[in-house]
Amino acid sequence: MKAGDHVPRVLILYPYDERLAATTAAGEAVRTRLLQATKARIDLFSEFLDLSRFPEAEHIGRMARYLSAKYAGRRPDVVIALGEVSARFIVANRRELAASATIIVAGFSSRTAEEMDLPNDVVGAFSEFDIVKTAEMARGLQPEARHLFIIGGSSEFDRSWLATARADLAAFSRDYNTTYLEDLTIEEFTKVAAEVPRDSIILALTILKDRDGRNFMPREAVKQIAETAGAPIYGPYLTYIDYGVVGGSVVTFESLGKTVADIALEAVAGKPISNLESPQTYVADARQLERWGLSEKNLPAGAIQMFKEPTFWEQYWLAAVLTLAVITAQGSVIAGLLVERRRRRAAEAESRHRLLEVVHLNQSATAGALSASIAHELNQPLGAIRSNAEAAAVILQSDRPDLELVDQILVDIQNDDQRAHDVISRMRGLLKKRGEIDWQEFDLNDVTTSAISILRGEAVRRGIVVNSNRAPRELPVRADRIHVQQVILNLATNAMDAMLEVMTTDRRLLLETTLTTDSKVELSIADTGHGIPDGQLASIFEPFYTTKPTGTGLGLSIARAIVETYGGKISAANRPGGGAVFRVVLPLARNG
Ligand code: ADP
Repeated sequence: MKAGDHVPRVLILYPYDERLAATTAAGEAVRTRLLQATKARIDLFSEFLDLSRFPEAEHIGRMARYLSAKYAGRRPDVVIALGEVSARFIVANRRELAASATIIVAGFSSRTAEEMDLPNDVVGAFSEFDIVKTAEMARGLQPEARHLFIIGGSSEFDRSWLATARADLAAFSRDYNTTYLEDLTIEEFTKVAAEVPRDSIILALTILKDRDGRNFMPREAVKQIAETAGAPIYGPYLTYIDYGVVGGSVVTFESLGKTVADIALEAVAGKPISNLESPQTYVADARQLERWGLSEKNLPAGAIQMFKEPTFWEQYWLAAVLTLAVITAQGSVIAGLLVERRRRRAAEAESRHRLLEVVHLNQSATAGALSASIAHELNQPLGAIRSNAEAAAVILQSDRPDLELVDQILVDIQNDDQRAHDVISRMRGLLKKRGEIDWQEFDLNDVTTSAISILRGEAVRRGIVVNSNRAPRELPVRADRIHVQQVILNLATNAMDAMLEVMTTDRRLLLETTLTTDSKVELSIADTGHGIPDGQLASIFEPFYTTKPTGTGLGLSIARAIVETYGGKISAANRPGGGAVFRVVLPLARNG
């Protein structure tokens, strides 16, 4: 994978739906940075796995199959899995979904990664959620505090977090009267927190489940507790800010986004990558400092204060209400349009699928028609290999074999073997089936050359001289290469058919590529055949129109469908000196 070869595809996997602020904001930060750093020469995709509400194996399997089919024609080069569940998902399903992609996981600690036993080639942008730094920040703000409470829930993750915190806070908690609040229901947490003495520090880890097994978004649980708490609460997550906590040492979305994007950019550039840790920042909520009478002077150096200004809502509530009313009114119109668009998309997908099937039948027919000349082409190197091998055997049997000559013969054999190999791989390429369009950027000159290689044998058999005139510059096109090649093959076989009755000395086929004056890419295929009767110029592109005894009348209509799929046009004309010329015009993928 090298920058410049093709536009790299990066797939970002979000663990939940789009409402979970932490991953969505982190993902946005990744996107912004990737787009900036690559000047938008990157294809970004997002998928929300929704694994918290649908943790069942069937959903996961269904999701994996769906994504595998969806990305069949656009396999990502890099997959970024945000959060632990996304990481588990991609590690389990990478073979089907993104077999050769670089996998970057992010948003959890290296310790969690170790427990997950990630494959060696999976690289992490880890966030260490440092409860000790958060505790130190609390000590700085509340030098008079004597009590320390640590809150954690009952899920497996909550419990392991509590165990980690116990070990990490062992030294810190010696200075305080310390209590771990665990194995409680949400009501009990709220009640106990309301009754703690004012000179307490409360540290909130996570509550994903309470003792009754009820599920929570941790910040929602923390918010409920903070509303009536008797002392300030701190937590090591940015998502807790604005949910009643004073602050903590956190990994900001920008910081996480930057770390992830930096790894992804190295991966895209084909450089080796390794684990990184996202730097942490102290963050405080100015409104909570005020609520508890804590002085901002006691914040650690470099701390960021949020909500210092009046909120957007406070400043602009009237404008916001009016805007909301307009948006609601537009909502129903937009909803209608969306339904219509979905219907159209489904119809488009169906017709694209049909086209792919038809093109494949067309490819097979071309391969069939060319098989005699391809077999002949294959016979040449194989025959040469046999005669060369026989000659070498004779030389080696002599008393003083000329080894230099044998050496030369072996080189010839290798070259012939390569020729045979080329013929077979061209044939394979010709038959490649597509489930989805494989969009690539390629040079029209190159596809023309490879189509000529496929046709040359047949042209020789029919006594046709093939000439090509390449544009002196690269002609980048964005399309499925195999499809464009098929268009050329259809037009060129028609041209060869049209020259059947012409004297052998006058059978000429000319393929030309040019850049048009209005910056489009043009391929013309001209022949010296019988031409097209004037009245028929409009009909020849119609399906089933044929003047050949064994024709299907589909070659040109398929060619037109392909060209139009890629935003191009195809046309036919008679040449003044006799014969026909077909022109295919496609958009230029990029200039320069
Ligand atoms: P088929 O080749 O099976 O007839 P096509 O759709 O490819 O189907 O072509 C339709 C018809 O267009 C041909 O039968 C022929 O009459 C006409 N045609 C196509 N290409 C040429 C050409 N280069 N010169 C003259 N007539 C052509």
